[in-house]
Amino acid sequence: MDLQRLQRALSLEAEVGFTDLRGREQTFSQFLGSVFGQDPPSDWVLNGDDRRRWKELGSRYTLYSELELPERQHLVAETRRWLERVRRQQELSRPSSHQPGSFAASLPQRSGFPAVGVATTPPEAGRSTISPSLPAGLSLEQPLQFLKGIGPKSAEKLAQLGLHSVRDALYYFPRDYLDYSRRVLIRQAKVGETVTLVGTVKSCSCFTSPKNPSLTIFNLKIADKSGVITLSRFYSGRQFAQRSWQASLERQYPKGALVAASGLVKKGRLGLTLDNPQLEVLGGEGEELDRLGKILPVYPLSEGIPADLVRKAVQLALPAAALVEDPLPADLKRQLQLLDLPVALQQIHFPETRELLAQARRRLVFDEFFYLQLSLLQRRHRYRAQAQAIPRYQPARGELLDRFYQILPFQLTAAQQRAIDEILADLRDPLPMNRLLQGDVGSGKTVVAVAALLAAIQSGWQAALMAPTEVLAEQHYRKLVEWLSQLQVPVELLTGSTPPAKRREILRQLQTGELPLVVGTHALIQPAVQFRNLGLVVIDEQHRFGVEQRAALQQKGDHPDVLTMTATPIPRTLTLALHGDLDVTQIDELPPGRKPVHTLVARPGDRLQVMRLIEREIAQGRQAYVVLPLIEESEKLDLKSAIEEHQRLQEKVFPQFRVGLLHGRLTSSEKEAVIAAFRRRELDILVSTTVVEVGVDVPNASVMLVEHAERFGLSQLHQLRGRVGRGSDQAYCILMTGSKSEEALRRLKVLEQSHDGFFIAEMDLRFRGPGEVMGTRQSGLPDFALASLMEDQEVLQLARQAAEQLIVQDPDLKRWPPLSRILEERQARLLGPGLLT
Ligand code: ADP
Ligand code: MG
Repeated sequence: MDLQRLQRALSLEAEVGFTDLRGREQTFSQFLGSVFGQDPPSDWVLNGDDRRRWKELGSRYTLYSELELPERQHLVAETRRWLERVRRQQELSRPSSHQPGSFAASLPQRSGFPAVGVATTPPEAGRSTISPSLPAGLSLEQPLQFLKGIGPKSAEKLAQLGLHSVRDALYYFPRDYLDYSRRVLIRQAKVGETVTLVGTVKSCSCFTSPKNPSLTIFNLKIADKSGVITLSRFYSGRQFAQRSWQASLERQYPKGALVAASGLVKKGRLGLTLDNPQLEVLGGEGEELDRLGKILPVYPLSEGIPADLVRKAVQLALPAAALVEDPLPADLKRQLQLLDLPVALQQIHFPETRELLAQARRRLVFDEFFYLQLSLLQRRHRYRAQAQAIPRYQPARGELLDRFYQILPFQLTAAQQRAIDEILADLRDPLPMNRLLQGDVGSGKTVVAVAALLAAIQSGWQAALMAPTEVLAEQHYRKLVEWLSQLQVPVELLTGSTPPAKRREILRQLQTGELPLVVGTHALIQPAVQFRNLGLVVIDEQHRFGVEQRAALQQKGDHPDVLTMTATPIPRTLTLALHGDLDVTQIDELPPGRKPVHTLVARPGDRLQVMRLIEREIAQGRQAYVVLPLIEESEKLDLKSAIEEHQRLQEKVFPQFRVGLLHGRLTSSEKEAVIAAFRRRELDILVSTTVVEVGVDVPNASVMLVEHAERFGLSQLHQLRGRVGRGSDQAYCILMTGSKSEEALRRLKVLEQSHDGFFIAEMDLRFRGPGEVMGTRQSGLPDFALASLMEDQEVLQLARQAAEQLIVQDPDLKRWPPLSRILEERQARLLGPGLLT
């Protein structure tokens, strides 16, 4: 039994938010259940109590998946604490070879462990900031509970934030800072200045506006020796109307509590106030402010966890920053002027100056990018090294591709031609292709994919095209049949709804190689699907698939060429960060004759006109989409349900038209039937949830009305809008919103002005924050690193260059054991599985 693996699994589970992480072979709880289900290791010395505890844990983990979140947190925290205690006992009871009193020797032996190793020699203290006096016995793995001043109760609360060990606390970065260098007395605040005020709470109240049920107001009155000020925060959305939520907010600001407030001074109705102030309860630590320095960290919290507790824990843990091993080569740090890691960790929590804070952030952000780039480049290097060198396109072997160009009903755009050329060059190259094809909605990626498929097929390979939904897979299939039947290339469709007999036949033909091309959904990655010689894999809307799913399809061949496609306009800045191991082709041109979709933000008062527009378009033989955010009246949100809206439109508004309904709860054959009817113009209007977002292609549709547009992300709206304007006539997209929030309107207006998916994605990033933007979570990049992409790409570029240099010289990082250890650990975190199997 490997204690480390156990501890790692526990910390990983905590990191991912107690989701019962799924490994390659088993889940987190199955793994723990099986570990504790066996006897403890024979060389462990356990007393009776601990033996019983061991057994008991075994049975508790078998029930883990049925526990509620807090119970899971509790169990994991308890196990971690207990293990830590047992580990110490083992060490004490073992005749030790280490010199007593040596600091490093009191640390657990942790070969191959992770992100932060343990320095065997104390790193040189950088600047003046690392406190030279390390409290005796402080270690990175030490549970916070054992820190002086943190009791079991507090430890429990910290555990709710995922903070168990000293290391966890060191890596729990502030989400913001309060700048005391801007501190003024209330009386001194002047309009237009950004200030920090510190005062005690006189009163506070939170209530929902009697006039507007989706507006909740929080008022806080604070006073210092010079005066009084009332601060307000506004929350928009029905969920804030709950009294229990409001009461919990009020409880955070009890009368007499010391509060710091930062923001821009402005004139309010009740005199001066701060614009959308940042508020922070200082707890009893008022007099410590000066000691803490001028910039106070503000940590992400959850309910019931006092801010000062987190600050205290971090402060107590901070001396251990000196123990953190800095894995970066010294040369590199010098060359790029990066802070030492221990110093950066210190300064990110309690910065001495703004400048040091900026440097600390730069160092930590650099690390994130650098490790990501290293692992991407390393992966690519290894993959290529393993691959047999086979060219997948031999132009001389047939004229399939040429015949395809002849039957195409249109001329390829220059961008499409360029993309095809790049892909063919990749296919001809003996090394496997790994290319991402990015192109805005409607830019015509499918044709490019088909050209690639045919190139591989004509050279004697099998090819597969995978799409994320049955609707989309069917649509591709339909297109392929239309084109490929003229070329006498057989193609089949494999999805979850393929009848068993048909499915068996397809599987057989794939195995014998009779069938050169298959289109499908996730059904393609089932183990039963086997190819004779899969040479090319195309994955459409690749961001909808997980890393493992993409890999699973890839593994059906021997290092096949891979083309992934996305219309999700990953902002340019993110592409490099996230896809460092891919080559990227962009289709930056739409087919000719397309008019940009005329886009309008509409208010409820405009509804009549909107209905007239729809009527007019239908009268001219066109079709319309009405898109809604939800399918049923749910969670008391007053969103119109698609079902009701469908009924209303059909019966009251457009009795003369045929109105269809599409939503996520339909089975896929029902969905396909509805879309087919719409495609055949048997329906004039399709009421739909966002099911239509992905790839649906009905060129005759010319209007789209999106209800509650403020509920959607900009990129998502752009995708939706891409469903219309696929022909050459003018198309319209109406974004209906009743929202009064200025920001919501400003956000939607972006779509009125821009049709550039990449630009829109960047705006989305600005408005919604990087964590929300699709796909980025998978990168494993923390928010602070993603956020920095917005401001500054210098670090990203430096990291990329540095990583490239290193991998070229030393692909396995043999000369840099700390780096390669970190990569292994991060890989494990990203994929989860490896650890538990
Ligand atoms: P997407 O990139 O969003 O997947 P599609 O491949 O579905 O776009 O293409 C959108 C529409 O444009 C389809 O109806 C397709 O047949 C058509 N199309 C693609 N390329 C061209 C072209 N070069 N000229 C005219 N129409 C084209
Ligand atoms: Mg597409």
